[in-house]
Amino acid sequence: MIQATNSNELFERAKHSIPGGVNSPVRAFRAVGGNPRFMVSAKGAYMFDEDGNRFIEFINSWGPMILGHAAEIVQDAVQAAIPNSLSFGAPTRREIEIAELIVSMVPGIEKVRMVNSGTEATMSAIRVARGYTGRSKIIKFEGCYHGHGDSFLIAAGSGAITLGVPDSPGVTQGVAADTLTAPYNDLEAVKDLLVANKDQVAAIILEPVAGNMGLVLPKQEFLKGLRELCDQENIVLIFDEVMTGFRLAPGGAQQLFNVTPDMTTLGKIIGGGMPVGAYGGKSEIMDFVAPAGPVYQAGTLSGNPIAMAAGMAMLRHLDNHPEVYERLEKTTTKIVNGIKQNMQKLGLNYTINQVGSMFSIFFTEQPVVDFESAKTSDTALFGRYFNAMLQRGVYLAPSQFEALFVSTAITDELVEKFLQANYEALKEAHE
Ligand code: PLP
Repeated sequence: MIQATNSNELFERAKHSIPGGVNSPVRAFRAVGGNPRFMVSAKGAYMFDEDGNRFIEFINSWGPMILGHAAEIVQDAVQAAIPNSLSFGAPTRREIEIAELIVSMVPGIEKVRMVNSGTEATMSAIRVARGYTGRSKIIKFEGCYHGHGDSFLIAAGSGAITLGVPDSPGVTQGVAADTLTAPYNDLEAVKDLLVANKDQVAAIILEPVAGNMGLVLPKQEFLKGLRELCDQENIVLIFDEVMTGFRLAPGGAQQLFNVTPDMTTLGKIIGGGMPVGAYGGKSEIMDFVAPAGPVYQAGTLSGNPIAMAAGMAMLRHLDNHPEVYERLEKTTTKIVNGIKQNMQKLGLNYTINQVGSMFSIFFTEQPVVDFESAKTSDTALFGRYFNAMLQRGVYLAPSQFEALFVSTAITDELVEKFLQANYEALKEAHE
């Protein structure tokens, strides 16, 4: 039994001054039982908590630590930038360099605006799409999460599903009425919405690979079909690549699936772990953004020099080392195949979805292709599995409805350790 005395004490203390004791809901471990671990440091594939425990990491700050924690190239870039001041609130050369690099890497981006989180990126993107089209409504998909902007907390994924509040109180009926929802992978449902809301839909926004109801892959005809519908109806197609951007390929899911959206939202990896987001797209649309155009969007800390230094180091590395993606996929496939073998030995037959370095085990025997099928998972069983893994020093996302992220720091030896823990934890969870 690993110790959690210090983490438990800290959690009790945190609850007095922080709502629920955490600064982002899923961190609280509500869905899996027990208390969250308070972290002190992380290096490579490991995180270390306040009780001196070491965990092999499969969250990687929910995605951005693609090269593992405290990667030297990123740390060095940040350290070199610090003496020049932490923020200017004025333009810098590096902002142009990172914008040029993003434009060169992501097929759907001709111009890009930096913001400070994925939430800001998606909120801004739909405002621009509304300004550009002069229409009000948007279509999103059940179980997709696009941050906590009011328009997106309708049938939302991630922590919103985990905590049972997909439709958050505090979102006005007026805002909610402008968000239409359809099941993921269901093109016919989108067509029906478009008929019922002719010439009223400004944007269709989706995770081109959904990572916030667990990992759900798009059917190829789904992405292509959405592209065609948006072209026919003059609707802005927005791919939210906050998770998948620079993770599934240098140009994200849009490169992998060869479907180019009109706008793209980004986050996480472009900050290398610093708080950064971005939205970009066709010049014709992005030129609606102030001061080029009339749609207002701003940020005191946007394009922050330290964040840009970290992001630039990360993106340059990924751009110059495309072999990273092959390696990540190979490691992840080894893990997924190993889990399948473990399940076979134990007479289990749960669904695993994988693409590149992202994967989820769903505790259901049904294929998982949308939110309805994701919800057939046994979440109590997931909780037992999660805690059994934690006891064996493996740190997973504390919810059935999240994807796991593999970093380049996961060696073959760590894959073996993971698989041993996985076998024992699956067994224990069924006892
Ligand atoms: N969009 C997607 C696809 C995400 O996964 C997330 C966060 O996980 C967001 C948007 C929101 O990003 P942030 O948490 O940086 O606001």
